[in-house]
Amino acid sequence: MSINQSGDEIDLLIGKMKTATSPFRAVLNSLHEKFRNNQEGDVADYIPELFKAKPDWFGVTVVTTKGQSFQVGDSRQNFSIQSVSKPFIFGAALDEHGRNKVLERVGVEPTGEAFNSISLDEESNRPFNPLVNAGAIATTDLITGKDYPSRVNRLFEIFSNYIGRDVHVDNSIFMSERTTGHRNRAIGHLMRNFEMVSNNFEESLELYFQQCSLVVDSHDLAVMGATLANQGVNPLTDVRAIAPNHVKDVLSIMLSCGMYDYAGEWAFRVGIPAKSGVGGGIVAVVPDVCGIGIFSPPLDKKGNSVRGVQVCEELSKEFGLHTFAVSEERQKLIQMLS
Ligand code: GLU
Repeated sequence: MSINQSGDEIDLLIGKMKTATSPFRAVLNSLHEKFRNNQEGDVADYIPELFKAKPDWFGVTVVTTKGQSFQVGDSRQNFSIQSVSKPFIFGAALDEHGRNKVLERVGVEPTGEAFNSISLDEESNRPFNPLVNAGAIATTDLITGKDYPSRVNRLFEIFSNYIGRDVHVDNSIFMSERTTGHRNRAIGHLMRNFEMVSNNFEESLELYFQQCSLVVDSHDLAVMGATLANQGVNPLTDVRAIAPNHVKDVLSIMLSCGMYDYAGEWAFRVGIPAKSGVGGGIVAVVPDVCGIGIFSPPLDKKGNSVRGVQVCEELSKEFGLHTFAVSEERQKLIQMLS
């Protein structure tokens, strides 16, 4: 949708998706058919447990802000959420502490560096943004609770509100994250050196490993996306997951930093807020319209799901979803006014 799309246009778009003949279901089926045999990309292997994923897994779900759901392929296949969790924790930190405090700990600047780079902004000592590991660890550090179990419960509560059911961690993934997490520990120590994280940062690293290991499927990601699209209220449960004034902060960061080093190209080509993870998940948000959840483990060189990127590119093109797209309807008005 375009930034100035009217309520009528939004209803029309949702209407097109849900009609009895369901042309949208046919669109999803044909996209799945078109890309399912694409064998490009590699399943992530830097955490041994992730490498167990099957390259053929491919599921897509779209959930609208009115709560309709459209699914195709392995839409209910479980996987670990990984970095897709990061914007949601950024949102929770904003809700808990307010903008000023959060921005003391983390910037909002895209970086051309790797997601796990051991670097901070030289002037402010802050991590560049909440979607690289350093920034994510700093925002997870802001998740409070009287002790570690209460912080874990708070973490689960954040995601349960978005997803609409209880969540749990995949213990083998968690152990794999923990035993191989030296780089993340190094980032944690560097940030502690500059007092960008609390004294408790080692516990926060554990919490971060738990966060990355949460079990989701593409339907869950679509509901999470639909919650952001719906100004922070889960359309299936009516539960508020994030304050309305923080939704745009989360979406802005997703648009500028959500797709690793492909973020600029993504904003240019697809133009909707999204976040991907090394598990092969992508969540994308079409404000006021729907959330899109995709799962397909083979990743491209930038770390994004190959089939996931293709599906989003096609949907964006087909339905004019780019944030700055000029819809045909608007074009007509522009012509009438000129
Ligand atoms: N568990 C991963 C890490 O911190 C998250 C990576 C990702 O999905 O980008 O290394």
